[in-house]
Amino acid sequence: MTRPPTALTIAGSDSGGGAGLQADLKTFLCCGVHGMSAVTAVTAQHSRGVVGVHALPGSFVAAQVMAVATDIGVDATKTGMLANADVITAVVQVLQSVDVGPLVVDPVSASQHGDPLLADDAVTALTSKLFPLAALVTPNLPEVKVLLGLEVRDRAGMREAAKRLFEFGPRWVLVKGGHLDSDQPAVDVLYDGSSFSELSAPRHPSVHTHGSGDTLAAATAASLARGLDVPAAVAAGKEFITSAVEGSFPLGSGRGPVGHFWRVRQ
Ligand code: PLP
Repeated sequence: MTRPPTALTIAGSDSGGGAGLQADLKTFLCCGVHGMSAVTAVTAQHSRGVVGVHALPGSFVAAQVMAVATDIGVDATKTGMLANADVITAVVQVLQSVDVGPLVVDPVSASQHGDPLLADDAVTALTSKLFPLAALVTPNLPEVKVLLGLEVRDRAGMREAAKRLFEFGPRWVLVKGGHLDSDQPAVDVLYDGSSFSELSAPRHPSVHTHGSGDTLAAATAASLARGLDVPAAVAAGKEFITSAVEGSFPLGSGRGPVGHFWRVRQ
């Protein structure tokens, strides 16, 4: 019997289970991929925000990656919350020494509630050291602001952001437009250094979108693990998150999560 495709998430834990590595592992499962995790930080959080963060030493994050990559094998990898420059530097070093398949970098910097998930001085490490290893980076518009200092207001601004982010060295850039005009379809811009394509999906009016960025990147990584190329994997990821937002639900007294398990929910 052959093993199924495998995917690794290098990400933070969300105790509420809606975002972070919990979102990634559920998404991997629902995309038919064996999920594995290297924990970067443990957060204490509920539906109203992040109340505590405890980052792991970078060397121990790298040890988790090394352990699974050298024995189990990794067909695709996704990074989420990386917390600080120590973790990023260690992750970059280990990713340069083992094969973990194509890398999707979701440049998580803050939660939707505005709680910081990345130290201010870690942005340069992220763009200069990790981005060059990425097959794909997937910023949303607040993340574009953190990474480039660029305020994007329209589709032309998304293209400009994609071009500038491409300069850091990833092979593809997906700028997600979900934060633009809430009465329009959700349009994302994909760029490979020479041409742009746009992915559009109907917008579902839900406030329960906690974990949406993680879920899109994880579904895309799962598709890469299954052998799809980047444009096809991004299209599959967009389809998955569109259904997950439709299947979102209230949880706690704040913002609920997207329904990662929409495919199997009764
Ligand atoms: N917590 C962790 C550990 C995360 O990785 C993320 C996003 O990547 C979040 C919280 C924030 O999720 P959201 O911005 O969807 O609320």
